[in-house]
Amino acid sequence: TASPLLLDVRDLHTRYGRVEALSGVSVRVPAGHIVSVIGANGAGKTTLMNSIMGVLPSSGEITYGGESLRGVPLEGRVARGISLVPERRDLFASMTVADNLQLGAYSRRRENWRRELEEVYTRFPRLAERRRQLAGTLSGGEQQMLAIGRALMGKPRLLLLDEPSLGLAPLIVRDILGIVRGLRAEGVTVLLVEQNARASLAISDEAYVLETGQVRLHGPAAELARNPELGASYLGG
Ligand code: ATP
Repeated sequence: TASPLLLDVRDLHTRYGRVEALSGVSVRVPAGHIVSVIGANGAGKTTLMNSIMGVLPSSGEITYGGESLRGVPLEGRVARGISLVPERRDLFASMTVADNLQLGAYSRRRENWRRELEEVYTRFPRLAERRRQLAGTLSGGEQQMLAIGRALMGKPRLLLLDEPSLGLAPLIVRDILGIVRGLRAEGVTVLLVEQNARASLAISDEAYVLETGQVRLHGPAAELARNPELGASYLGG
């Protein structure tokens, strides 16, 4: 039984001046699934995320929940339930964990932030223990949890995660990806961008391989994990 598409990106082109970073990318994200986009440095993964959020101008068609996002600015996309956890995490280093989380709610003008804050603390007990600690003094894994927690304030339907495993030790990567899988179980749809192909395929339903701004391969994650073309370049042989 096929799930309806939550996000449908068709023939996306995004350029930086003369350089075309995305050249006709199409990605489909069914509701309730984890879809990963795998690719090397510079393949265009972050550009794809920023194009979906509407912070980079692009041509092509992006449909979310059956409606076109054409002309919808960033705030409108956030209000519709799309939330991005950026690669650099963009935390406020000299503010506390609690203040960073509250800002996540503020940007969505939500009244239910106290309840949502408690939900984030229940999900991430580590953040609850450290609620008064400055974000800049957290470990890398804790900062990633905080960035995800902040994105969850306001209850997104679609979570875009840009390289959550960046700079983290393998055990912590496993924790973070375990959290992502848990979100799926709660009905959050996830588009996950990763260089860490093996780990992301293991938790994904479908995957796309992006190379120099184009989709090179796509299919069920389990099939891609066995694909010899992917093996040599992305799965370490
Ligand atoms: P990484 O894993 O290293 O973050 P990526 O797959 O996310 O890589 P992008 O950051 O989307 O790749 O970059 C895609 C291409 O666009 C690269 O060739 C990059 O140099 C170029 N690019 C990205 N941002 C800009 C910019 N602001 N101005 C000009 N070119 C850019």
